[in-house]
Amino acid sequence: MTTRRRRGHAPKPWVADLLAVVAGVGLGIVIALVVIGEAGSALTAPGGYFNAVGRLTGFVGTYLLIIMIILMSRIPWLERTVGQDRLVRWHRRVGPYPVVLIALHVVTITIGYAQMDKVGILHQLWSFLVNYRDMLMAMVAFVLLVAAGVTSAQIARRKMNYETWWVVHLYTYLALALAFAHQITTGVVFLNTPLAKEFWIAIWATTAGLVVVYRFLWPLLRNLRYQLRIADIVEEAPGIVSVTVAGKHLSRLAVSGGQFFQWRFLARGLFWHSHPYSLSALPRPPFLRVTIKGLGEQSKAVAHLKIGTRVFIEGPYGTFTDHARTQDAVTLIGAGVGITPLRALLEDLPLDVAVTVVIRASSTRDIAHRDEVEELVRQRNGTFHELVGDRKKFSFDPGTMRRLVPNIAQSDVYVCGPDGFSERVVAAALRSGCDPKKIHHEAFSF
Ligand SMILES: Cc1cc2nc3c(=O)[nH]c(=O)nc-3n(C[C@H](O)[C@H](O)[C@H](O)COP(=O)(O)OP(=O)(O)OC[C@H]3O[C@@H](n4cnc5c(N)ncnc54)[C@H](O)[C@@H]3O)c2cc1C
Repeated sequence: MTTRRRRGHAPKPWVADLLAVVAGVGLGIVIALVVIGEAGSALTAPGGYFNAVGRLTGFVGTYLLIIMIILMSRIPWLERTVGQDRLVRWHRRVGPYPVVLIALHVVTITIGYAQMDKVGILHQLWSFLVNYRDMLMAMVAFVLLVAAGVTSAQIARRKMNYETWWVVHLYTYLALALAFAHQITTGVVFLNTPLAKEFWIAIWATTAGLVVVYRFLWPLLRNLRYQLRIADIVEEAPGIVSVTVAGKHLSRLAVSGGQFFQWRFLARGLFWHSHPYSLSALPRPPFLRVTIKGLGEQSKAVAHLKIGTRVFIEGPYGTFTDHARTQDAVTLIGAGVGITPLRALLEDLPLDVAVTVVIRASSTRDIAHRDEVEELVRQRNGTFHELVGDRKKFSFDPGTMRRLVPNIAQSDVYVCGPDGFSERVVAAALRSGCDPKKIHHEAFSF
């Protein structure tokens, strides 16, 4: 027997704007504190300018690192307003700046102190290590930060296993924690402006609190409550299985069709793997369902898991939902395993929304949940198109688009599928007169 489910929370668009303003004001305060903290006379002393640049780059670099961590701290209202894909993009865009700024900080402060003490650079580095409190930890922090930066560069990233990259990335938390002590004990800015110290500690404490609560405690408590276990695994198409999990209190889980969770299957060899999969149906407490295409280590192993295996989820995340809709007509276009979030979204759309679904596949047997999608469309008197066959036969151009969906320009378009497919569909929708703001796209890679 199933019980009622809870609808997903609506995004709060003002949250992102507010957060951007807070981040900007915070940056302004940090720069002002460093500038005020510099005693004018110290600038003209030996090494003065190097030290001033060193302090500024150190503080601004660390502040940007903190912003990056907050972007990835999985704060639920931020996730459902901005979307994890956009947060990851912002995080990546900011990424190079703190690494470069902190490297500049290390170089300029070393030169500045060497000039001040009238010693060589290597002598000064050694002196930092043996004579300055907490400086060894700060140097280790710098090495960890550089390692995280280098492994995040596109070229290195492509060659690395996702989990290895993730573990190296985790070291940035350690790096920040190690660097904190040297800022507090040696920060000249804090000596001249004691209020700055309180401000800096408050920023750190807030960031640490957000990470501990939303990345660790919150998911842990919720999973203890849900106690999810695999209830069923069914092959839906070649290489694609659906996994149904059963749990407790799932009627309390607020989720929208089209959203995804991070899934960790607690079986031997898979503990470290946490991967994003979208729900392929709305929750039917006590059940949740995902549909997974076997591509790599975890996704292939899922098909062979035992019934009863414990499952740990984090989420829901994502903005690919009915909340993004702006009109009463919707077109859902999917290919491959990209059909799965569309299937759940279709179930979540109000009945008075006119729906057209377009599914693309090489053969009918490759389409997971085809019959479910067709039935859902039929129940709401929608239009269902299946484009099955050779890729060359079905190019997505504006002509095809308008033939399949005559009202495309007055419709919200949701697209999910392999990257190349989604790019072609989005381009054709734009050329058919769709407003870019009404095209919603879920990428299955960040
Ligand atoms: C928002 C979203 C929703 C998704 N929904 C589905 C779905 O419903 N069904 C489905 O079959 N696939 C889905 N995917 C794709 C799925 O997550 C990957 O195919 C899967 O993670 C591959 O893992 P693996 O162990 O098999 O391969 P790996 O070799 O470990 O990973 C292959 C690639 O997948 C990506 N990846 C792996 N882990 C993560 C992670 N934790 N976060 C982001 N990217 C990662 C990386 O780009 C990696 O290079 C979704 C992806 C995203 C981003």
